Amino acid sequence: MRRLLCFFIAVVCATNAFAWGQKGHDVVAYIAECHLTPATAQKVAQVLNGHSLVYYANWLDNASHTKEFAFTKTWHYANVDEGFTYDTMPKVESGDVVGAINLIVNQIKGGLLSPQDENIYLRMLIHLVGDMHCPMHAGRKSDRGGNNVNVIYFGRPASLHSVWDSSLVESAHKWSYTEWQQQIDRLGAKDIAAIMSGSVKDWFNESHAVAEQIYAEMEEGSKISYDEVAKYAPIIELQFERGGLRLAYLLEYLYGERTAKAE
Ligand SMILES: [Zn+2]
Repeated sequence: MRRLLCFFIAVVCATNAFAWGQKGHDVVAYIAECHLTPATAQKVAQVLNGHSLVYYANWLDNASHTKEFAFTKTWHYANVDEGFTYDTMPKVESGDVVGAINLIVNQIKGGLLSPQDENIYLRMLIHLVGDMHCPMHAGRKSDRGGNNVNVIYFGRPASLHSVWDSSLVESAHKWSYTEWQQQIDRLGAKDIAAIMSGSVKDWFNESHAVAEQIYAEMEEGSKISYDEVAKYAPIIELQFERGGLRLAYLLEYLYGERTAKAE
C-alpha cells in the first residue's frame, strides 16, 4: 500500500513538473485580459479565433507532451545553478523560457506568420509568461528546479517544485481565477509601470532571486504548513500580478499602440 502511495505521489509530482498549477496560469491570463485596451483585446481575440487568453492559458502543458510540440518541452523554465547567472549558465540547446518568449515576440512582431502559426505562438506566449513567474521554473538545474528537493507539506512528502507550482496556491486562497484577480490586481499606475519596465531577462532574473530566497528558507526535509502558507502567499500573489501585467505589456507591444520594448 505504501509503495502504491509513493508511486501515486510520484506520478502526481511528475505531472506537475511543467508549470504553475492550472489556477496560476488562469489567474495570470485573466489579469492580462483585464489590462488590455479594447482595441488590443479585439485583435488578440481575432488571433485566438474568438477565444479568451484564459481559454488557452494551460494549453501548452498538455501540448508539450505530444509529438507535435515536444520541441517546447524545455521552454517552460530556465535553470541557473549556484555560482552562475542566467548569462553565465550553460544554455540548453532546445531553448529555455527566456529565449522562447523573445523568439515568439519577435516572430509575431515580424508580421510574417500564417494566421495558424500566429495563433499557436500566441497560445504559447500566454502560458510561458505565466511559467516564468513561477519561482521554481527559475530554479537550479542541480535539483531539477526543486523537483529533487524533498519537503513535508502538511505531513505528506512533496517536492519543493510541486509545493510552489500548486500546493501553496491552493492552500493560500480557495478563490476562482476571477476572484484572485479581484483580490490581488489592485496596484496603482506607478507600481504597474514599474512592474512593466525591464526586459524579459530582467523579469526572469527577478523570479530567480525569488527562487534563491525559497532555497535558503525551504531546505531538504523542511516541514511546510500554516506558518509558511501565511508567509509565502503574498509572494505568490505578487508573482501572479507581475506575470499578468507583463503579459498585458507584451500584448500591447504586439497588437496595441505600444512601440517600444526593452531588450
Ligand atoms: Zn508550463
